[in-house]
Amino acid sequence: MKIGFIGLGIMGKPMAKNLLKAGYDLTVNDLVKEAVDELVAAGAKAASKEEIGRTCDLVMTMVPNSPQVKEIMLGEHGVANYMRPGTTFIDMSSINPIASREIAAALAEKGIEMLDAPVSGGEPKAIDGTLSFMVGGKKEVFEKFKPVLSAMGSSVVLCGDIGAGNTTKLANQIIVALNIAACSEAFTLAKMAGVDPQLVFQAIRGGLAGSTVMDAKVPMMIEGNFKPGFKIDLHIKDLNNALECGHAVGAPLPLTSIVQDFLYNLHKDGRGQDDHSSIANYYAKLSGINIGK
Ligand code: NAD
Repeated sequence: MKIGFIGLGIMGKPMAKNLLKAGYDLTVNDLVKEAVDELVAAGAKAASKEEIGRTCDLVMTMVPNSPQVKEIMLGEHGVANYMRPGTTFIDMSSINPIASREIAAALAEKGIEMLDAPVSGGEPKAIDGTLSFMVGGKKEVFEKFKPVLSAMGSSVVLCGDIGAGNTTKLANQIIVALNIAACSEAFTLAKMAGVDPQLVFQAIRGGLAGSTVMDAKVPMMIEGNFKPGFKIDLHIKDLNNALECGHAVGAPLPLTSIVQDFLYNLHKDGRGQDDHSSIANYYAKLSGINIGK
């Protein structure tokens, strides 16, 4: 099976390398030449989007958001123009589920199958090949391509029809953002009340309040290290998609709206490229103290 992989950023690059390690025949494309060169050095071929469309049985994308996925697949020179009927597209980007359904409908007219398969786990799990995939689409298409996704992840779950993967991812992103905000609020309180945040972390991480988010993000807050990871600007994109989807289905999202406000504030302060643990800096601005030193 020939696989085309478009989008070699923080996540896409290690994911593509894991497909190579698993022995897949891989052709890559990105706007950034250095990223493409790195994959070629690891054993991939480089090609234009047109060539990927013409030659690959499976095309995968890992790009920022719906506009990029739509442009790459359905734009004037979009990959779908060159793909054969019977081929498949898997989008692993986190995008609005409504957009996933629109793209799948346009591809179905050309006889191209689609799965939406966003991931959770971040860069460390992308490197280890232990991402969690949440997938939407037809069961038979899912079963056919599950081994490809399993080369990059340790959990691959079909959540429903097309769009269900990204709906699940929106739920995930709400929980992550609100959890980081809760940690920022709680550790700021502890520091202001005179208790060492490191000791608070040690004391509570094994209890009910503990979480994967707390384990990953609170040490970053304590160190004052906000290197991404997952960028504030990408989380703004995810919460926008959640709010848009919420409006479409009538779901109440008051907490999501509040944390989105924090994220916009951080973006305005020039922190859009910070890791999302930088929500702690919103509290630092309000309180005048840092959780770390
Ligand atoms: P990134 O910005 O590091 O990478 C995106 C890549 O897409 C870049 O290399 C960019 O050059 C490329 N790209 C954009 N438009 C393109 C085009 N038209 N043609 C070819 N290449 C193009 O982003 P990332 O952190 O790798 O995230 C990618 C997706 O994965 C996003 O939807 C994000 O929300 C999601 N995600 C990220 C993380 C994380 O921790 N970083 C975790 C889970 C999910």
